[in-house]
Amino acid sequence: MTCHEAQRRFALQVVKRLRASGFEAYWAGGCVRDQLLGRVPKDYDVATNARPEQVRKIFGYRRTVAVGAAFGVISVLGPKGAGQIEVATFRRDAEYSDGRHPDEVVFSSPAEDAARRDFTINGLFYDPLEHRVLDFVGGQADLQRRLIRAIGDPRQRFREDKLRLLRAVRFAAAFEFELEPRTREALCDMASEILVVSPERIAAEMERILVDPHRVRAVRLLCETNLAAAILPEIVPHEPAAQRRLDHALAVLERLAEPSFPLVLAALLCPFVDAEATLAVCRRWRLSNRCSDRTAWLVRNHAALRDPRSLRWSQLQPLLVSEGIDDLLALEQATSEAEGRDANHVAWCRSLLAQPREALDPPPLVTGDDLLQSGIRPGPEYRLLLQRIRDAQLDGEIRTREDALRLAHRLREQDKAG
Ligand code: ATP
Ligand code: MG
Repeated sequence: MTCHEAQRRFALQVVKRLRASGFEAYWAGGCVRDQLLGRVPKDYDVATNARPEQVRKIFGYRRTVAVGAAFGVISVLGPKGAGQIEVATFRRDAEYSDGRHPDEVVFSSPAEDAARRDFTINGLFYDPLEHRVLDFVGGQADLQRRLIRAIGDPRQRFREDKLRLLRAVRFAAAFEFELEPRTREALCDMASEILVVSPERIAAEMERILVDPHRVRAVRLLCETNLAAAILPEIVPHEPAAQRRLDHALAVLERLAEPSFPLVLAALLCPFVDAEATLAVCRRWRLSNRCSDRTAWLVRNHAALRDPRSLRWSQLQPLLVSEGIDDLLALEQATSEAEGRDANHVAWCRSLLAQPREALDPPPLVTGDDLLQSGIRPGPEYRLLLQRIRDAQLDGEIRTREDALRLAHRLREQDKAG
């Protein structure tokens, strides 16, 4: 756990050390923007005219890692709790032939380093010793006007690095800023080019966008700018009914408090697609199996808890003992609220969950081994048989091992006969 105060102090130390060694050094980028917005920076980056080798010498090889060697970025490890600071040499990026990474970097001046950054509000430097902002790109004015504006020609900047298309929406949503009109126009025109970015990066960006409290504004922007059509066509409404489904999904999204990524993704997808198609989205984004399975499970069961009191225990209990139950309850609660329904059925489920584990999830009366020993030959129907016995147990139809075996044989006879 890094402490903001410790990190900030260390970020100041790093600048002081570089200065003491005769170099220029400033805080740069997101941390300057966040500070000017009165937000706590997630992390601090330092920009300097010291070369990467010099940075390593100054802070020592054991306390530095060449994380972005190709870009001249050195990570300097702080004292306990202070995290690490990325120290990058002022640079200009030359040519982007792959739409994502510069072909080569050339070390240069603060002004050029500001100019290679994506948006004006991200192009600021701050001198933490003299408490002075260095603004080569008009970033302060755009912070005042609350605008996301590409530095330089927006089309060229998006052409160079297509990830910026999605970053623009993330920042506009998260800060409640507008997209500056030319930036917006370029974004809308070029949105489909986001697909040259690796699926993993798109997914990582979408995760940040969707778990953020401003997710509704973000999804609206994704749709308006045509980015959704490229990366999540499933949710793009082409007719009034689909628009109503989207509005409903957004009303649910709005009511999710600090959701996990699977929860928010499921909430967004469930009015539009089934569990299978959800898995296809997850595969497209190369999400982990764990994340994909959870998302698909939520979509499959999204309506299962609408009226839990009407369910048999053998239907409700498996949901309650599932790993994803907290997400499922949060989804049901947000959905009820969005639809103006009472959510006391959710509270009722939560009260059931509060029972001791033995009561909620009693051990099964019989196992496959028991069936085997009682003379039932193993086969593909074993699983189903065990399932039916488990359901009968949960529903209180049988209470002992003997009951269970008797039921097993009876079901077997029935199946043979039928
Ligand atoms: P946050 O960390 O909150 O996402 P940030 O602005 O700090 O926001 P980072 O990805 O940490 O974003 O990048 C730090 C800085 O590096 C940015 O503020 C920006 O100046 C620059 N930067 C990052 N990504 C790009 C990019 N794709 N194109 C141009 N500049 C970028
Ligand atoms: Mg950052």
